[in-house]
Order: sequence, then C-alpha cells, then structure tokens
Amino acid sequence: MATTAAPGPSPAARLPANVSGANASFSGQSKPMEVRLSNLTAAKAIGDAVRTSLGPKGMDKMIQTSAGEVIVTNDGATILSHLAVLHPAAKMLVDLSAAQDIEAGDGTTSVVVLCGSFLNAAEKLLEKGIHPTIIAESFLRASRKAVEYLTEISTPVDMKDRNSLLRAASTSLNSKIVSQYSSILAPIAVSAVTRLISPTSSNVDLRDVRVVKKVGGTIEDTELIEGVVLNQNAITSQSGPTRMEKAKIGLIQFQLSSPKSDMDNQIVVNDYRQMDRILKEERQYILNLCKKIKKSGCNVLLIQKSILRDAVTDMSLHFLAKLKIMVVKDVERDEIEWLSRSLGCKPVADVEQFTEDKLATADLVDEGEHAGAKVIKITGIKGGGKTVSVLCMGANSVVLEESERSLHDALCVVRCLVKKRALIAGGGAPEIHVSRQLAHYAQTLKGMEAYCFAAYAEALEVIPTTLAENAGLNPIAIVTELRNRHALGEVNAGINVRKGLISNILEEDVVQPLLVSTSAIELATETAALLLKVDDFHLTR
Ligand code: ADP
Ligand code: MG
Repeated sequence: MATTAAPGPSPAARLPANVSGANASFSGQSKPMEVRLSNLTAAKAIGDAVRTSLGPKGMDKMIQTSAGEVIVTNDGATILSHLAVLHPAAKMLVDLSAAQDIEAGDGTTSVVVLCGSFLNAAEKLLEKGIHPTIIAESFLRASRKAVEYLTEISTPVDMKDRNSLLRAASTSLNSKIVSQYSSILAPIAVSAVTRLISPTSSNVDLRDVRVVKKVGGTIEDTELIEGVVLNQNAITSQSGPTRMEKAKIGLIQFQLSSPKSDMDNQIVVNDYRQMDRILKEERQYILNLCKKIKKSGCNVLLIQKSILRDAVTDMSLHFLAKLKIMVVKDVERDEIEWLSRSLGCKPVADVEQFTEDKLATADLVDEGEHAGAKVIKITGIKGGGKTVSVLCMGANSVVLEESERSLHDALCVVRCLVKKRALIAGGGAPEIHVSRQLAHYAQTLKGMEAYCFAAYAEALEVIPTTLAENAGLNPIAIVTELRNRHALGEVNAGINVRKGLISNILEEDVVQPLLVSTSAIELATETAALLLKVDDFHLTR
C-alpha cells in the first residue's frame, strides 16, 4: 500500500488560520483536514451537478454514453449512474443515489442535494474547529429526530384509497419530462401495484411488473395489460399463424435445427446418393422434433435465444407452420423465469421431456397492431402467477426510455406506500417543518452539539431553496415567507411552484410517501457522517 496525497486541488488555503480551545491539537494536524476538505469539495460538486434538476420546474440533462447513445432525463439516479466519476468521495454520492433508488425509488435527486448541503454545513463547523466525530454523531442524532418529526406530521393512508395513491403517483410524475402524461401513467402505476398486493402485504416485488417498450404511437398509448405482453414478434417467414385461440403454450430451451459437430469438422461428400441421404436425415430429424412438439398438444411455441446454433431453420419453420404452430423466437435467458411464472408453464430443455403438463393454457395469443407497432398479447391465462405487464409506447426511443424510468419512479412511490402506509406533503413543507423543530430543539442542547443541530436544521432548507430557485422565484423571499407561515401554524404551507407563491400544498395535491423523505434524510446523513470520519486516503497497488 502506498500513501499518497489527497486527490484534487489542495484546499489547505481554506484551513482556519488560528483555531484555539479544546480542539487546537486536532486542528494542528493539517493532512487529515486536507483530505477531509478535498473529500467534501468533491462530494459537494456531485450535489451541485444534479441540483438544477430538482422539482417540477427542474432542468433536464442530456447525456451521451460512451456507446454514442443519447439519454435525456431529470432523474437523479439515472444522471449520476452515467457520470464518469473519478474521485472516491464523489463516487460515494453516486452510490448514495443508487441506495435511495433501491430503498425508495424516488427522491434520488433530493438525497444527493441534501447530502451536499449537510457536507456544506459540516465544512463550516470544521472551520469553527469542531471535531469531525462530534459533527458526525450530532448529525446522526439530528437525523433520528428529523425522522420522528416527519412521522408526526404524516397522515396514514389506506391501500384501498385509490385517490391518495393516485395523488402520490402524480406528484412523482409531475417533476418528470413526461409530466403532461401523468394522468395516464399514474393510474397505470397504481393499478399495477394494487393488483399485486393483498391487504396484509408489506412489500411488493416490482419485478412482477414487466414493462415492455415498443417504439410507436405516443406515451398516451401506454396501457396496462391483464396478461402477458411479449417483447418479441411472431415469425411469419413461412406464413405460420399469428393468432391462436385456446392456446397451449410451450417454452423450450432446445433448438429446432440439425445438430452441429462439436469441433470444426469437414465431411467430404463425393456422391449424390450420399448427399441425398444427409439431406433426408436432416429432414427426418427436424420433422421428428416438430411432430413430438405437436403431439404434446402445443400450438404456440416460445423458443429461447441460442448462441450455439440457430434456434429455428427455414425447414423447421416450414414444418411448424404446416402443423399450425405459432412460433416466437429469441426469448432472452432472463425472461424465462418471469414468463414461466406468469404463464404457469415449465421451460423444457429436451424434446423428450416436452409433455402436456409442461404447457400453459391461455384463451388467446394474438399478434395485433397497437399504435403502429406489432405486439403479441397473451390473455385469459389459466393457472398463471400474479404478475402484470405494462406496454410502454413512445414516439422515439429517447422519450420511451424516459417514460419507462418515470413509470418506474411512480411504481416505486406506490410500493413505498405499501411498505409504509403514510403520506406527507411535498413542496418543501416537510423540510421547513423539520428544520424549525430541530432549531427549536437545538436550543435545549448544550455546547457544540447545539451548534451542530442548528447547522443541520439550516442545511435542510436546501430543498425549499432549490425548489424556489429552479422555479425562477426569489429563494430568500420565498423561504423566509415559508418559515413565517409555518411559524403561524400552517404545517402544510409549501411552495406552489405552478403559481409561484406559498399555499397549502395539500390542496394542490402535492403529496409524497413518508418513506421517500425519511429514507432520503437517513441515507444522506449517513453518507455525510461517513465522509466526515475519513481522515486519510490510500491507494492500493
Ligand atoms: P427526486 O429525484 O428527488 O424525486 P424530483 O425532481 O422528483 O426529485 O423533485 C422532488 C421534489 O419536488 C420534492 O421535494 C417534492 O416535494 C417537490 N415537488 C414535486 N411536485 C411539486 C409541486 N407540484 N409543487 C411543489 N413541489 C413539488
Ligand atoms: Mg421524484
């Protein structure tokens, strides 16, 4: 291991000149301080990178990936996951956003902005000469208090109360590029999740919601489908069927083509009779396979993609079409589990095992036109698992991808409400409330802890400040008025970014799950505390 200097520009110049008192000996060591400040600077830079994307009036980012693909998004986790971040401390903020994405799914911009603000506050406290351990511990205690205050002002929500769920999902969608379609996407997200849960469930596995993306139509053509939608299309090159009533669906992992030799062998044939025999053998072999498939009663065949040899050949397709079997190939390996669960069939790897009990039954498999794109829908499935499909449409892939990401956020918001059935207001209202309560509480504390609590409380104001900034309002005027309104007892006063003033934000239907806010505060504080406690930086060979 080799010890190196901290990366980035040396912030030594910003060190406090003459700190005295209890922490003088700690301040005397300059290297840990340099490392710490360098980490803080790098991490704050990440916070600043996504700051302008916060809220319904936030800006979008255009990202070009190394593969040349263009992404337009304003989702914090998506922006950060594509950045080429080098500094290790900055990477922790990228991970922070990813952690929030896993825990709550929404609030991925807020969490990074909050963490940047906590680090900013910490830097000022460090400059005052307060020991980093004290700052870190006070911040963690303050975050636990903040979560208490948030829980106090939350209102419980019933999963049967579809209206509340819709409001929460719409709020999340309203801060997206696709916000004008929130009236279409929000009901889809709510129906998808409520279909999967039972009254007692405490979580939903969003992998049970499959989003199939097709370019075509507009986002308005997005729909929730009772049944299964396939990514693939039917093969029609040998004019096989594309519609099957009373379908018996088989999912196979073997190939319908002649076997290849293990190695690169050559067979020299110098006789027409021999050549005929080879062709006949091949024909016989494939015909046998197809007949065995037909014998099981199967009339729709889903074939897994194979890299070893062709999944189907012209000849096998010809036979299958003759036998009136609909064929879909190129089913991906990672779709197999979901498909077999949703359809209630078993994947088969060997033709000898291909029997009727492995097949799924559905009323209809139909490849129809949906807003200009060909889509296979499987409906009326008997004995399938509890899953849903969403067919996501969009005019081009940039819009489509962002629509899918936004739908994911909305699904996560509803999932948050399943996990923790409580809602709070949005628009900066909860942050101001907690900030005021914490500042009040800080007055009951003594010494440096009181300082840290007060600084933490002030740092929370970054959310309303940024919301106001991004909406083109005067942040100082707005936040001061917001504080005053809260002081007058209006707990739900928030920034109404549409009208550019302060109003009761619940009346504007801006609500968010409690879990999104509490998890953002907890995770952001943890990361800030972790960064504060780092005092040296090493590279391994
Ligand atoms: P994140 O990735 O953190 O979810 P968003 O861009 O979705 O970031 O912004 C979320 C913030 O915007 C939350 O603080 C939320 O309260 C606020 N917000 C969302 N919709 C509105 C609205 N209509 N008016 C005011 N604030 C809003
Ligand atoms: Mg959001």
